[in-house]
Amino acid sequence: MNALFSYNKITREIADEIKEKIGANNVCTDEEKLDTYSHDEVPQSSYGRKYTAEMLLFPESTEHVAAIMKTAHKYRIPVTPRGAGTGLSGGALPVFGGIVMSFEKMNHILELDEENLTITTEPGVVTAEISRMAARHGLLYAGDPCSGDASYIGGNIAENAGGNKVIKYGATGAQLLALEAVLPDGSVTWFGGKRRKDVTGLDFVHLIAGSEGILAVITKAVLKLLPLPRHSVDLLAAFPDAQTAINFVPRIISEGGLIPASVEFLDKNALSLAERYLHTSVPAGDAGAALIIQLEDNDEERVEEQFEAIGKLSQQHGANEVYIADTRSTRDRIWQARKSVPEAISSLYSRYSKEDLVVPTASVPALLEMVRSETEPYGLEYVTYGHAGDGNMHCTLICPDCPDWHEKLHETQKRVYARLIKMGGTLSGEHGIGYKRKDYMKFFLDDAQIELIKRVKLAFDPQNILNPGKLVDWENKSSD
Ligand SMILES: Cc1cc2nc3c(=O)[nH]c(=O)nc-3n(C[C@H](O)[C@H](O)[C@H](O)COP(=O)(O)OP(=O)(O)OC[C@H]3O[C@@H](n4cnc5c(N)ncnc54)[C@H](O)[C@@H]3O)c2cc1C
Repeated sequence: MNALFSYNKITREIADEIKEKIGANNVCTDEEKLDTYSHDEVPQSSYGRKYTAEMLLFPESTEHVAAIMKTAHKYRIPVTPRGAGTGLSGGALPVFGGIVMSFEKMNHILELDEENLTITTEPGVVTAEISRMAARHGLLYAGDPCSGDASYIGGNIAENAGGNKVIKYGATGAQLLALEAVLPDGSVTWFGGKRRKDVTGLDFVHLIAGSEGILAVITKAVLKLLPLPRHSVDLLAAFPDAQTAINFVPRIISEGGLIPASVEFLDKNALSLAERYLHTSVPAGDAGAALIIQLEDNDEERVEEQFEAIGKLSQQHGANEVYIADTRSTRDRIWQARKSVPEAISSLYSRYSKEDLVVPTASVPALLEMVRSETEPYGLEYVTYGHAGDGNMHCTLICPDCPDWHEKLHETQKRVYARLIKMGGTLSGEHGIGYKRKDYMKFFLDDAQIELIKRVKLAFDPQNILNPGKLVDWENKSSD
């Protein structure tokens, strides 16, 4: 066994020490609950086995988190931070048992600073709650993952979550100004501040954003806010087929001359899955594919001009019909259809892999054709939906009747990834590597980069106790 992965079990003495530090009411060893908190949205069956923590902890403060990490450090116990468990990469999986640390009790918005346009939160605040609080003050929090009604901001930061507005505002990391973090030895520090610029030292804020909980535990975050655009309109353009729809995406910017807040894509399968899952007809449900385009501006007339121009342009590029959602209820129907697709897949299929492919934006049309040519001839089905505007497509591979599903999936992934690399694409745009994708990292990053990741990890965490076994394949090569 690699010495980096040799841990101690939680003895009764260690358990008592933890209870004394954070209170027995914040400690759980109930088997059923441990099971529930020991996976995310990737089905455990995809790993061929179950991983379960020994103890589930619910810290209420930074001091609690620091005490937990100090104890884990002293006894060499692995600790897996957990947000809402909506992750799609097995990031919150306690691969070596030990402690799962859930942030559901650290769920307070601490400050909204209208002078500096910032909001400061604990890690267990639900993302949509931050947006709602900002909106009540006429402000916009631009992070907008489709899971925003459930996911926590700590999980969003750890994954550098993307979502629907990346094309205009960037991913979660772009909204982030500062972090309070507990390091694996239990020390507490602040990275960054409310400053809009800062070159004093290294940019640890944006190293920790997207580090998937392997470097430090996020206990507070300061996020940027913007003035809330006063007017917005969503268009749903229905196309005869997927390729015509996707070919239009780069044209929105190059010919339309504007950057929408969102450009989301749904293929025919995605539209019909949304209908089956929601038990209702969705706008453009019978189309070959659809694009949802969100436009926003402070000036109502300018928004109108923009949607008329984009509507016309989409028809010139083959759209059959354009629906304009300018009321709350029509807008909700469109977005409900889009947001329901990942859940529809999880509930209607038992064997699937939600891929998170990302390419330079101009290559999105070629990505779709590549996925088709590497799946259909091999007897696999696929559903494609996602953030077409920023080049990130969730092509989900499905094969309900394949007895050799795991082999078939692995072969398909290898073919798709080889072509993806040639297109300048990469393995994950927003869902992260976690446990699910770590074995494929060697196709995308060279040895020098993988070694560097390991060295950075061990610089933060020499005992390798924080979320171990994630991001890269630790069993191979040097760090033994
Ligand atoms: C229906 C659905 C739609 C989705 N849509 C999107 C989308 O549009 N865009 C997108 O990017 N993702 C999306 N996701 C994936 C997922 O919601 C995001 O990755 C989200 O950021 C995970 O947040 P969470 O709170 O659930 O974190 P978890 O899944 O609990 O954890 C994710 C990772 O963060 C780490 N972590 C959690 N909290 C902390 C902390 N305080 N400190 C350090 N590390 C921590 C965990 O160890 C783990 O590695 C979607 C998922 C679902 C199920």
